[in-house]
Amino acid sequence: MTSTTAIHAGHVIGFDGVSHRHIEDGVVAYEGDTITWVGPHSAWRPDPDCTEIEAPGRLVTPGLINLHAHIGGSPLDKSYIEDVGRREFGMSGLYEMLPARSGAQDEEGTRACLDFSSVELVMSGTTTVFSMDPMPEYNMARAAEIGLRMYLAPTFRSGRWYTSDGRQVLYDWDEQAGLDGLARAIEFIERHDGAHDGLIRGMLCPMQIDTCTEDLFRRACDAARDLGVPIQTHASQSVVEFHEMMRRHGRTPVEWLLDIGFLGPRGPMAIVGHGIFPNSHSWINQIGNDIEILGDAGATVAHAPWVFARRGIALESFADYLSADVNMSIGTDTAPQSMLEAMRWAAVLGKVTGRNAERSTAAEVFTAATLGGAAALGRDDLGRIAPGAKADLLVWDTGGTWMAPFRDPLKNLVYSAREEDLRKVVINGRTVMDERSIPGVDVAELGVRLQASGERLWDRIPQADWAEREIDELSPRSLARWGD
Ligand SMILES: [Zn+2]
Repeated sequence: MTSTTAIHAGHVIGFDGVSHRHIEDGVVAYEGDTITWVGPHSAWRPDPDCTEIEAPGRLVTPGLINLHAHIGGSPLDKSYIEDVGRREFGMSGLYEMLPARSGAQDEEGTRACLDFSSVELVMSGTTTVFSMDPMPEYNMARAAEIGLRMYLAPTFRSGRWYTSDGRQVLYDWDEQAGLDGLARAIEFIERHDGAHDGLIRGMLCPMQIDTCTEDLFRRACDAARDLGVPIQTHASQSVVEFHEMMRRHGRTPVEWLLDIGFLGPRGPMAIVGHGIFPNSHSWINQIGNDIEILGDAGATVAHAPWVFARRGIALESFADYLSADVNMSIGTDTAPQSMLEAMRWAAVLGKVTGRNAERSTAAEVFTAATLGGAAALGRDDLGRIAPGAKADLLVWDTGGTWMAPFRDPLKNLVYSAREEDLRKVVINGRTVMDERSIPGVDVAELGVRLQASGERLWDRIPQADWAEREIDELSPRSLARWGD
């Protein structure tokens, strides 16, 4: 027998069936894993056995949906991948930096990342994550222990890219490995979809548009339809990849995804990871209508602004994608894995590239981080506070250094809030973080393990880099050492 919990808060972001609304002096009630009521306190009629939490100085929002994450490696991007970019690769880190990092990363490094990341995500407001990572069984168990809602399955591809001269990107193909990987993903989903009270859900991820064959894509799309799961691939993510697809097929990445049936039939459950280089991007400048194709297909773009911004690249522009009816969602992709930061970068860069202060608003990026992500997952019970939705809630302090003065919840969240303003996280009706503490989690110990993992990785970089460079050559230090 579960009883109702009601949070009586100064501010609540409720969902009225169409869009988010600001309720001043509101109540959110939930029973078990499900929200049962939301509205103004004046209309609230509690059950006799209801536990009511008084929170006058607090804001309650829906949990954030992080639609693009690599939590098994991203923490080890720190101190390594920033402030570098080669013009030969269009500033992308995909062809030198990431292969060296992942080649030098050991299994304990991956475990340390997965353990750390689940905590980092919860502590910065992610309640649902789309995780494209190795060690899915371990990842799933860790997420379930913390109480994080996770979409995952083994990822797969028919080939890999590499460079042997620092100028050209080449591809190594193993089509059978791609098919075997898809089979493993399907088996994983059939075994685990819905596990841990529904927190664990399946997804399919043919990794990159330029490393999967058309046959693998078509089979993966059929499987996504049969299993009813979302499918995501990285596409339009680099200048190199754009031109590689033009070279192979005479088609832009987006046109090719339409040709092979990836875009269209599944609407928003076909997720384009990044989609930052359509034909119209100023670094590409090709004839075409990629953004319109994405919008007409009703597809989702998982927009991870920081991973590009740090290389001087921005989406052109967030508002233009919205205006074309692309279902926009937000992801973190790299470190830091904070949806608060991701929303802020999306809004600010959207204004910069769109040259318009009145678009890429706090409301637009918050909606992408909640309702946009939910649509991509085919879930009308996530990303909103409404009766029948899952009880995935964030409780923020409205009176701290960063939040006061407080009038407009979304402006303060997107432009001013810090992670420490997030005081409580509820996922599936369970309080997973309370006053910045997650039961059973020693954050300092996670940091110690990450440090040790980083030190082992940095030592091994020459073995994994194509040019056998030491870490300091591949990723120069910001400051010379004292005495050098
Ligand atoms: Zn990615």
